[in-house]
Amino acid sequence: MVRTGAQYVESIKDNRCIYIGGERVQDVTTHPAFKGISQTIAGLYDISSDEKENMTYLTEDGTIANKIYMIPKSIEDLKDRREAIQKWANATCGFVGRSPDHVAGYLAGFASRPDVFARGGEQFKDNVSKFYKHARDNDLFLSYVIIPPQTDRSKASHEQENKFTAVGVYEEKKEGIIVRGSQMLGTGSAVSDYIFVSCITPLRPGDEDHALSFVVPLDAPGLKLYSRPSFAADKPSSYDYPLSTRFDESDSLIVFDDVFIPWEHVFVYRNIDIVRAQFHETPAHVYGNNQAQIRFVTKLKFIIGIAKKVTAMNGIDKFLPVQEKLGELAAIVASVEGMLLASEYNYTTDENGTAYPNRRFLYGVVGLQDTIYPKVIHMLRDLVGGGVLQVPSSYKDMINPETRDDINRYIKSTDVSAEERVKLFKLAWDVIGSEFAGRHQQYELFYNGAPFVTKGYSFRNYRYEEVVDLVDQFLESYQIPQSFEEQVL
Ligand SMILES: Cc1cc2nc3c(=O)[nH]c(=O)nc-3n(C[C@H](O)[C@H](O)[C@H](O)COP(=O)(O)OP(=O)(O)OC[C@H]3O[C@@H](n4cnc5c(N)ncnc54)[C@H](O)[C@@H]3O)c2cc1C
Repeated sequence: MVRTGAQYVESIKDNRCIYIGGERVQDVTTHPAFKGISQTIAGLYDISSDEKENMTYLTEDGTIANKIYMIPKSIEDLKDRREAIQKWANATCGFVGRSPDHVAGYLAGFASRPDVFARGGEQFKDNVSKFYKHARDNDLFLSYVIIPPQTDRSKASHEQENKFTAVGVYEEKKEGIIVRGSQMLGTGSAVSDYIFVSCITPLRPGDEDHALSFVVPLDAPGLKLYSRPSFAADKPSSYDYPLSTRFDESDSLIVFDDVFIPWEHVFVYRNIDIVRAQFHETPAHVYGNNQAQIRFVTKLKFIIGIAKKVTAMNGIDKFLPVQEKLGELAAIVASVEGMLLASEYNYTTDENGTAYPNRRFLYGVVGLQDTIYPKVIHMLRDLVGGGVLQVPSSYKDMINPETRDDINRYIKSTDVSAEERVKLFKLAWDVIGSEFAGRHQQYELFYNGAPFVTKGYSFRNYRYEEVVDLVDQFLESYQIPQSFEEQVL
């Protein structure tokens, strides 16, 4: 079954425990910090449940599901999946990183390689397969926390002053486990149905109690979310902050205050090797990052669309140096899009016939994201000039009879009304300058790990054989001269 937006909204009205601003949230769907993003996610489900959008597929079990849960078997499947994800990315202009399609890709990746989980016992393989089907057939929204909280990164989890700083198994019971501790950083968790919890940073011997992988529903007793400040709640209107008000996903520290996890929700139990293998010996990480790149391409396109409109509105697009800057932006964005398509076109398959976007091109661009995004933002900042601050404090100044005439007279461009101009420049500010914009710079830098981690992915996945062979072949084409007289070609 695929859900509608209304069904999704109903599903998150439960007893979840979220704290923000010193208070517990009573209803996440109406609280000012989370209302905007829950409505945005509801909008995504309205798109996918609309038959005309072609976002569903027939599963191998004969059910109808959202394509975000597809396990691709061919290039056509990869294309289908991309086009579905693209529809959602278009609806959020690429500014919602952890929409439900992100972790759905991880689950699909896990389910395609149940043998990896079977290494810990047949029951874990079954748990993964059953939960994947449950999530797929109920069109669930999962977020994830897979990083231990920042305390002392030079120490392993078990070496921290408080052993249960990072989430770990506190007690084993017949029916399941009790987990205690915390994990960062739950983007979108406040408005999701379940959280997938594990650890992607390397665990060390002695960390077995932290070597877990499980899912937990948001209303599980003892589960608490501590949200960062909202960028949506205090804003005067969507006209003033169009992105902050709709797309602030929220990020939360997740605390496990002795939370009971039934065995059927446990995928990996006290096994360091399988915790690592679930990400990298299955297509999970590849599918998650493929979704991230589809979203990233959309976001970059949206940003250069703003650059094009702003320069036209200010009449500076007629200057050659400005055209050069627009051309550079276009070249960057076309390259990122090209890498996405190259990863699809050069797909590989595993022994089960599951199709993977090519890792060389996927991780090649992942490894550059920490420089691409700040550069594009800087170039937009350069092109908009002070126009983003030559705007009234809020829409109220634009409708107040005392002030509106001045605004209409002075904040305008040729053939463009003040209302239209202010609208565009306020959007540009939400991309480059608002607190929401600053969080997005941090997001693109870190969502997939720190830059040294993402460049490690490019390093490990490039497959250097081909390029080393090229050099070796050339080196073999000439030798050291055997005498002083031998001629150099
Ligand atoms: C906006 C945002 C949203 C996020 N959403 C999610 C989410 O939904 N789910 C989730 O699980 N996580 C999420 N994260 C967490 C993200 O995965 C981490 O921020 C990321 O893995 C880096 O870890 P860290 O923040 O602890 O930084 P650190 O690991 O502390 O790294 C900070 C810096 O320290 C240096 N450094 C640290 N360790 C080393 C080392 N071993 N060698 C060399 N240099 C080092 C590097 O300069 C690095 O950039 C999110 C983060 C952000 C910022």
